[in-house]
Amino acid sequence: MQTGNRFRAYPTPAQEQVLLQWIGHQRFVYNAKVSEDRYYRTFAKKAVSLSGTPVPVDQEYSRFIGPETPWLREVPSQILRNGAVLWKQAYGRFFSGLAGRPTFKRKDGRQSVWITSELFSFRTNDKTQTEELVLGTRKFPVGVLSFTAHVPYSRPSSLHVSVEAGKWYVSFSSDDGLPEPKEEETVSWLRLFTEEELEVRTLGFDRGVAVPVMASSGQSIDLLPVHKSRTERKERARRRYQRRLARQNKGSQNRKKTKRRLARTFEYAKNVRKDVVHKATHTFTTDPERSLFVVEDLKIKNMTKSPEPKKDGSGRHVKNGVRAKAGLNRAILSSCWGLFVLFLSYKARRNGKLVIKVPPQFSSQECAHCGHIHPDNWPSQAEFVCQRCGLTDNADRNAGLVIAKRGIRLLLEGDVQRKPVRRCGIGKRKQLGQELSEDKASGEDYKTRRSKRLRASSAKEEFSVVRPETPTTASA
Ligand SMILES: [Zn+2]
Repeated sequence: MQTGNRFRAYPTPAQEQVLLQWIGHQRFVYNAKVSEDRYYRTFAKKAVSLSGTPVPVDQEYSRFIGPETPWLREVPSQILRNGAVLWKQAYGRFFSGLAGRPTFKRKDGRQSVWITSELFSFRTNDKTQTEELVLGTRKFPVGVLSFTAHVPYSRPSSLHVSVEAGKWYVSFSSDDGLPEPKEEETVSWLRLFTEEELEVRTLGFDRGVAVPVMASSGQSIDLLPVHKSRTERKERARRRYQRRLARQNKGSQNRKKTKRRLARTFEYAKNVRKDVVHKATHTFTTDPERSLFVVEDLKIKNMTKSPEPKKDGSGRHVKNGVRAKAGLNRAILSSCWGLFVLFLSYKARRNGKLVIKVPPQFSSQECAHCGHIHPDNWPSQAEFVCQRCGLTDNADRNAGLVIAKRGIRLLLEGDVQRKPVRRCGIGKRKQLGQELSEDKASGEDYKTRRSKRLRASSAKEEFSVVRPETPTTASA
């Protein structure tokens, strides 16, 4: 199973300078590839196609080092190469329809550099008996990068060093060697249960604006009052810094300082949301009594779209409710719905459990007991009163139960298999290289190579998962 860890890193001021240089040089090569590609595709397209020269999609970068860019030689060549490789990988994602064409990397916001195994090593400090990460080569030494590992990790084959709002991080990605339970197996295992048994094992989640997420068991996921008051304070600071930023001269040192402070005001809310969602999804997915999670299939992107501008007869803009919508958008986005489903899904998969998405229509007007759907069932924000059977419940909890039922029905009757997720990740370099060179010799095109690789990787994953329990009615 592919796992990753991100740790806080504490480079010395001198190391910071070197790492910033590595980041900048890698970004330069990446952006040079982007602009070269744009050049070929616009101005030179006709002429190039006439001469029979294809637009280059390669990872060469030496042509960018010239008399005007001698400073590119101030960093290890692998840093530059990795910039070109990153661009080629991004182009590969574009070719396989996973993403748009690579665009320029910006100079502000989160910055990172991809460092491959030639440029780092791990060693054990004899005095403290701790593991140290040494960056750089003999020609370009950086030294020991100190970082805090808050969880155990395995040594990665490549790593990313990033900086965001003045804080440094180092990210490892590695394979822990454990098998990952397959979704088909989980589905067929869950189908062995009866509907009544499934009802006990299922949690439905209703996502709302007043309470971000409410489970059908009655548990709600929300920020603590202290989180909210601190977020509000940071929000006030954000507005203050943005006003200040607007008055400051572009390129000035004080503007840079304000930018850094502004970036820090966003950080708290982000960290707190991640923390709350991580903890909640961990509790749900590690609960041995629950193995099916159902969420509504919400189109958050559509729901948070800005309304179309409205014009009156004379062509003047009239109110279209954009301010009101903006407030709701912030509430939706900041209430971390997307984050919740993302974290819930991967944690469930890891634990051999399942997340199902169901259509959200009328889930808040439907009675969880008798299935009666009517707007009158929902007299106020918090309460639910069924007009047919008289059931009274908390509105969000009732919606959670309705969603859970829809999920069970979909599991037992319908096709819950999601479309296979197409990935274009960074595989193990050695294997990838071998396969590619073999395929190249046989003269296959890119698509056949890719599907071959996908088949090969799925064949490798044959294993059996040990289930914590077996259903009582296995014959059903
Ligand atoms: Zn009812």
